[in-house]
Amino acid sequence: MMYQLANPDLSGNEIKYVTDALQSGWISSHGSYIEQFERSVAEMAQTKYAVAANNGTTALHLALVAIGVQPSDEVIVPTLTYIATANAVKYCGATPVFVDSVEETLGIDVDDVIRKITPKTRAVIAVHLYGIPADVIRLRKICDEYGIYLIEDAAEAHGAAIEGQKVGSVGHLATFSFFGNKIVTTGEGGAVTTNSSELDAKLRLFRGQGMDPERRYWFPVIGYNYRMTNVQAAIGLAQMERLNDFLDRRQELADCYIAHLSGLDEISLPQPQPGLATVAWIQNVFLKDGGATRRDTVMASLQALEVDSRPVFYPMHVLPPYFDTTNVYPVADKVSELGFSLPLHVGLDESNIIEICEAVKQSVQNCE
Ligand SMILES: *Cc1c(COP(=O)(O)O)cnc(C)c1O
Repeated sequence: MMYQLANPDLSGNEIKYVTDALQSGWISSHGSYIEQFERSVAEMAQTKYAVAANNGTTALHLALVAIGVQPSDEVIVPTLTYIATANAVKYCGATPVFVDSVEETLGIDVDDVIRKITPKTRAVIAVHLYGIPADVIRLRKICDEYGIYLIEDAAEAHGAAIEGQKVGSVGHLATFSFFGNKIVTTGEGGAVTTNSSELDAKLRLFRGQGMDPERRYWFPVIGYNYRMTNVQAAIGLAQMERLNDFLDRRQELADCYIAHLSGLDEISLPQPQPGLATVAWIQNVFLKDGGATRRDTVMASLQALEVDSRPVFYPMHVLPPYFDTTNVYPVADKVSELGFSLPLHVGLDESNIIEICEAVKQSVQNCE
């Protein structure tokens, strides 16, 4: 039996609420669960508003559309992220401008952001990668100074906080994903949070084909159908009821990883950072040397020992659509070559983690 990276826990009120949604007949994008789910997301992010979307990628696109990103605009994005962050910029016809990350948090390098701001810069997207908050407090100040928008991509960081502020509440807008491997899932799903009533109204307008809220079937703009269904929201509400339990249990399992891997000389582990309340999404491990070839050998060895793993994201600048050799991103290059992620979900227990750690030790020590 293979240890999977992620596995959703649907043992709360998920079946009850989904059954209720089905019996109500409200299976599309109207129904009481949407509103309740949106409220629970706003509560998690400590924002006034949350707008549910059909996935985290459309949530990102919606956020950029809401602030009016145009083809002539630049949007600053960390090269070290999941491709959805950069693609959303391209969906607007705009240009993603990549920046490096800092090694301590794998979050966007704010000094590199400052260097790359131009008169065309419309927004910065900071990604709270692997559950670790990026330095959005400092970034928000800088964005306000330059009169540009800050968007947080919090797809991997439900419930995390920086200096006591929840991720999702620091930027002008923030997005979440509820894909099956995220901390909270709706199968496929996403949301945008904001404290601005104008942005909330724009998000709702563009999410629902651009239909005028005061005049049915009148469309003042070209919108999208990015709506979440009531059935997805029913799953999501049940998940959100257990968010704190999920986070506590995930942290215990992450602590178990740290306890059993910290003696291993060949690797380094993410370190707690002052002021940051991180959440445990998946467990990252970084080889100290050997490059991507050794990392891939270690991962193949883990696979043979029935432990699934995945490489840390390839930076955008090495991928065909965004290939870039004119700029350098040394931190992103280093962590993406040496890092891999191990299983972490509430279906695991401590004995499973210990078994996985044994497999890691064996794989790391055997793959010189
Ligand atoms: C998962 C993820 C997304 C996209 O979410 P989907 O729901 O899969 O569309 C965006 N950004 C990051 C950082 C993610 O991890």
